[in-house]
Amino acid sequence: MPTPELIKKDPDGLVARAYAFAEKAHRGQMRKSGEPYLKHPLAAAETLASWHMDDATIAAGLLHDTIEDTGTPLETIKKEFGDEVAFLVNGVTKLGHFKYRGEEQDSKNQAENLRKMVIALSEDLRVVFIKLADRLHNMRTLAALPPAKQKRIALETDEIYAPLAYRLGMYNLSGELQDLAFPFLYPKEYEWLIKNTKEQYETRLAYLEAIKPEVEKVLRAHDIAPLEIEIRAKRYSSLYKKLLRRSMDMGRIYDMVALRVIVATIPECYAALGVIHETWPPVPRRIKDYIAMPKPNGYRSLHTTVIGPEEKTMEIQIRTREMHDEDQFGVAAHWLYKEKGANKISGKKLAEELTWVQQLKAWQDHFSGQTTDATEMLQAMKVDFFQHRIFAVSPRGDVIDLPAESTPVDFAYHIHSEVGNTCVGAKVNGVLVPLDHKLKSGDVVQILTQKGKKPSEDWLRFAKSSITRDHIRIALRNKNKLIKGIKGPTHCELKLVVENRVGLIKDVSAVIARNHIGILSFHSDNPKDNRYSFNKAEVQLTDKAKIEKLIVKLKTIPGVKEISYRMI
Ligand code: MN
Repeated sequence: MPTPELIKKDPDGLVARAYAFAEKAHRGQMRKSGEPYLKHPLAAAETLASWHMDDATIAAGLLHDTIEDTGTPLETIKKEFGDEVAFLVNGVTKLGHFKYRGEEQDSKNQAENLRKMVIALSEDLRVVFIKLADRLHNMRTLAALPPAKQKRIALETDEIYAPLAYRLGMYNLSGELQDLAFPFLYPKEYEWLIKNTKEQYETRLAYLEAIKPEVEKVLRAHDIAPLEIEIRAKRYSSLYKKLLRRSMDMGRIYDMVALRVIVATIPECYAALGVIHETWPPVPRRIKDYIAMPKPNGYRSLHTTVIGPEEKTMEIQIRTREMHDEDQFGVAAHWLYKEKGANKISGKKLAEELTWVQQLKAWQDHFSGQTTDATEMLQAMKVDFFQHRIFAVSPRGDVIDLPAESTPVDFAYHIHSEVGNTCVGAKVNGVLVPLDHKLKSGDVVQILTQKGKKPSEDWLRFAKSSITRDHIRIALRNKNKLIKGIKGPTHCELKLVVENRVGLIKDVSAVIARNHIGILSFHSDNPKDNRYSFNKAEVQLTDKAKIEKLIVKLKTIPGVKEISYRMI
């Protein structure tokens, strides 16, 4: 094998020495695919490097199978590479390869594996990162294994590793693991999807490829230098889930492929949004400011859908490099950004910072003092996993993360606003329940819907999550309009007299978003204005009293002089 890039950077460093050691230890071994075994630890190490892990973790990635598969004693690793690397390699080895002895043993094994994972999590998160990198490569090469094994590994990936990655904020990895598992778990559905989306998918891709240079040109013309513009395809597993909610109607999926623009600063994010809206008209209600109002999981970005050339819609996501890295690497990104500071943060420190890891640890300590069988532990884990969050499951096995005391209505809206709006009843674990029923972790929730149904005012009394309450309010407003049969105004245009400054759009947007009011657009009347300026904002609000309240709040922002409004 040619010398990998990873080694070339520092030919005498720790990583290079680990590579040489692994090469010797695994020499002559083959993977099921017929490739030299070394390719596997190397792939894991490369993944770890792409997550910006430290050298000790990358070296441990290279060595992760040497104890188990080549019989190298732990002592040797310690002598050659020191305590830190040996600790990590030993940690991954202890997690072990998941061995299934028989179907009836599965839940027992799963519980045991979870228990080990909890210990690893609380000791040093880096062990878990190595395990995830290991699993990612195993999933990418799963085709080489016999079918029965494929299915088990895919299931475990879907049930344990993908959710774990999600909890660590590694959404991209979580999605990729789910995508890799999807064809093995649902081969027929996968086949259908590929067959039915291929053409549309390729057309969308070609369209965005053609638009990409134009977006770049437009941004540069306004002095915004994008660091990167990438084309993101929606993952097959999530596309399939979305299609299920849209009666398998491909025409109703807008964001199958999206453009992602990465810029240097937050003010530039808003400036880029403004420039894009000036160039292509935004589709109302599709502008989402997750910078002012991050998603509950911390996700930040600006999203918009605009009508591009040839009258085709395109979704554009705008974010900074830091937001992008956080979305890609989750907890690992915090590591990356903190490491730049004076205090280098250790994997152990990081684990301590994550309160849910601490909760898990407390839970683990509680159980280790008792003689409990593993299945009972799994049960307890389901209940105690997080104190303020619950995890309810759809009949298809999708896990929905909700605040404690959430109801079926919350569950429905978290699947999709349309499911929420048309919800008429719910079954929990197969039994019909009232809509204000409080869900528990592990509940299997089936939502019953009826076409054309509208939400009831009463739901606001018990809906728990703010996302749910927002959706209900919007639907109620539309419903009232329908009942009255009046074609009233649909939104409000605010005209501002401002002293423009960098960050002003951001401050204004933050105030509007924090009041749970949808932003339709920002723009400027004067084409000569610079890229940060605007004097008009359209918001989704038609209630006079609320508009006046909003204006009072907006006027407290430095730079905002006067505001007038009119309904449209
Ligand atoms: Mn491995």
